[in-house]
Amino acid sequence: MTNLLIKKQDIFLTFYKTAIFHKMIMVFYFYKNKKEGFYILMKLKEKFQQFMYGRYGTDEFSRFLLYFALALMVITLFVRVPLFNTLALALLVYCYFRMFSKNIYKRADENRMFLQKKQQFLNYFRKNKDHMGQMKEYRFFKCPNCKQKVRVPRGKGKIKIHCPRCHNDFIKKS
Ligand SMILES: [Zn+2]
Repeated sequence: MTNLLIKKQDIFLTFYKTAIFHKMIMVFYFYKNKKEGFYILMKLKEKFQQFMYGRYGTDEFSRFLLYFALALMVITLFVRVPLFNTLALALLVYCYFRMFSKNIYKRADENRMFLQKKQQFLNYFRKNKDHMGQMKEYRFFKCPNCKQKVRVPRGKGKIKIHCPRCHNDFIKKS
């Protein structure tokens, strides 16, 4: 029993030593052959370019997917939400699928849709912000006659409001 344990330890130690030795050789090799290392990198880059030929590549939508996935991963570092990791992985897979896709027209269409939705999203917030800014200075009333929204300045006391749509007058406290 003890013999077996020692043997196991021995094997582990030998393996560990060999691994370190291998790493040292590799570091030494790359240090001695910087040029060759660079050449290998260039070759890899060339291979990748060949692989990407006729494929869609990156766009705004893919970048958005990537950043969204990264954000989810960062969040999971602080808050443990198991679903976020799966979602991040799914987003990354989808991102790579789009990059390597050969159906360029379809991917470009998706990107166009994404940009459109993004613009709508931004517009919505801009409009909301405008409205919030106006709420400080104005009060909004509905005309009792035609339900038209009327904007009046705040803090003027009781005032007579003239409806621009149906020309009805009504009195409110502003
Ligand atoms: Zn009215």
